[in-house]
Amino acid sequence: MSLVQAERLEKSYRVGDVDVPAIRGIDFTIEAGAFVAFVGPSGSGKSTLLNLVGCLDHPSAGRLTVLGIEVAGLSRTAAAAFRGENLGFVFQDFNLVPVLSAYENIEYPLLMVRTWPAEKRRERVNKLLAAVGMADQAHKRPDQLSGGQKQRVAVARALVSEPKLVLADEPTANLDHDTAYRILDLMKSMRDEFGTTFVFSTHDPKIMAEAETTFLLEDGRLIEPNGRPS
Ligand code: ADP
Ligand code: MG
Repeated sequence: MSLVQAERLEKSYRVGDVDVPAIRGIDFTIEAGAFVAFVGPSGSGKSTLLNLVGCLDHPSAGRLTVLGIEVAGLSRTAAAAFRGENLGFVFQDFNLVPVLSAYENIEYPLLMVRTWPAEKRRERVNKLLAAVGMADQAHKRPDQLSGGQKQRVAVARALVSEPKLVLADEPTANLDHDTAYRILDLMKSMRDEFGTTFVFSTHDPKIMAEAETTFLLEDGRLIEPNGRPS
């Protein structure tokens, strides 16, 4: 089953009184359970594309279906509900809540978007803490954790509400090389364990080798891995 489908997708930003194109009519399909990278230099449109797929922004033209829903038509409120129900996010700068412990950061989405009883919540948070190798750091706040540890917590937080699709925008950009590879291995093992589809972006061509499918972006256009324009 294809989870994400884009057809002639376009996004322009209005700057003053001109439209600046960021995504210039691209087509792609992402299958359920895939581990996919969008790769391209800074400014090529990676964040714009992930924001569209993550229903954080609206396409300017074209079609985009996520989990069978045509997302261009979603209102702000409907998009927020759709994200809470179906999507998880991992950001470059981790975006953890500084005053909350690792445990509380992971629990947070459950308090927002799930009405699970406390015991089920506790089990799920502890399962994720163990899955990302952070069980013994559960009580620590973000400022007491290394970059790699913070990103592990962020990956656990993205997965805790059992989303079907996780979007990770340059999740390794602020990590050293070894840690970056470990975070990608972790995401892949989470995909294997939970069946979650992962879509990440990177500007590091070495990192793209870790993905099973890569889409190369150049100036808002998709170039196939073999160099064939879409
Ligand atoms: P990447 O994530 O690959 O670095 P972006 O998606 O952030 O690329 O940006 C793609 C293009 O869109 C760039 O030319 C950038 O300057 C432009 N852009 C991104 N966000 C905005 C915005 N909010 N307003 C105007 N232009 C933007
Ligand atoms: Mg970006």
